[in-house]
Amino acid sequence: MRQAGRHFLQIPGPSAVPERILKAISMQTIDHRGPDFAEVGKKALSGMKTIFKTDQNVFIYPSSGTGAWEAALVNTVSPGEKVLMFETGHFAFMWSNLAKKIGLQPELIEGDWRSGADPNQIEARLRADTNHEIKAVCVVHNETSTGSVSPIEEVRHAIDAANHPALLMVDSISGLASIDFRFDEWGVDVCVSGSQKGLMLPPGLGFNAVSDRALEHSKSVTLPRSYWDWRDMVEPNQKGFFPYTPGTNLLYGLNEAIDMLHEEGLENVFARHARHGAATRAAVRAWGLEVLCTRQGQESGVLTAVKVPEGHSADAFRAVALENYDISLGNGLSKVADQVFRIGHLGDFNDLMLMGTLAGVEMGLAKSGMPHSSGGTQAALEHLKAA
Ligand SMILES: *Cc1c(COP(=O)(O)O)cnc(C)c1O
Repeated sequence: MRQAGRHFLQIPGPSAVPERILKAISMQTIDHRGPDFAEVGKKALSGMKTIFKTDQNVFIYPSSGTGAWEAALVNTVSPGEKVLMFETGHFAFMWSNLAKKIGLQPELIEGDWRSGADPNQIEARLRADTNHEIKAVCVVHNETSTGSVSPIEEVRHAIDAANHPALLMVDSISGLASIDFRFDEWGVDVCVSGSQKGLMLPPGLGFNAVSDRALEHSKSVTLPRSYWDWRDMVEPNQKGFFPYTPGTNLLYGLNEAIDMLHEEGLENVFARHARHGAATRAAVRAWGLEVLCTRQGQESGVLTAVKVPEGHSADAFRAVALENYDISLGNGLSKVADQVFRIGHLGDFNDLMLMGTLAGVEMGLAKSGMPHSSGGTQAALEHLKAA
């Protein structure tokens, strides 16, 4: 049966794509080796530097975020080498799994899935690594499975305090363009990102921001690589071109997205996300439910993961909300499957869209018989009015 009105896509990525970007993408595909394309490519590459906040290198792949994860590792590490990772949640675990599959030795510091990475534990492990066997420290900036943010700048300080040469690699697939990120200032060596979250695009573009130091590493490391090879990108990129067919239409959309982010102002974009995160947490608390992230100051402005009471099914609730109110909410992943649902409040999003989203959640909680108090939507409204 037709559902009237618009669907609420409130998963933490892909986020709903704004009209301006859809329109940009709908332009005719052009010759990716022709002169008109050079301007598109140059604008995308230099524009992404302003989003990553770097004067160093940016590479763009026609890929999902997972591809960009692989690119970060195959260009910087050699077979059998160690990388240190922090288990903030499902995505950190998946990145370590990928590292294992391509022949690295990932060492995963265990986490509780309710907070960001702990710089103290990273520093202690690096201090113990006196032979410098660990080649990279890999941290997820915004852990999309839990709604916790890792303190990237403090992780850099931890590496420096241990006087360790490991590269700092960050997955900001769901953090970039939604929460504060500063590639150069924070001393990041590789940042991995994707198009379908804060950048407001459909899925299909993967990004690596790369320090000059990491790029230098890529010349001597020996993991086999072809499609992901940074070395093949450098020269064509200088003229706005790519070594193989790029995602031409998505690049049109990317250039529009970069313009939109700067028209609003990145700092305003970050403040908007933080405010919506705080209003959502006010709603969750008023419902008498639990926010999965328990570490104050590390709660995400991108999404909020909500724990449902023991013995109840988060997935059954999500199904009821989708069927009755046409709202898609994120599911709990792996370890927290069926125990949490995730409310995405990222991308091209405003106060009224948040209120519609929270109303959909509250009605879904009632309809599905989930134990809760009413008044969450009202609490969020009060927060928005005051803030
Ligand atoms: C979405 C996401 C990924 C995976 O990206 P894909 O585009 O699905 O491959 C990895 N890490 C984080 C933190 C994410 O949010």
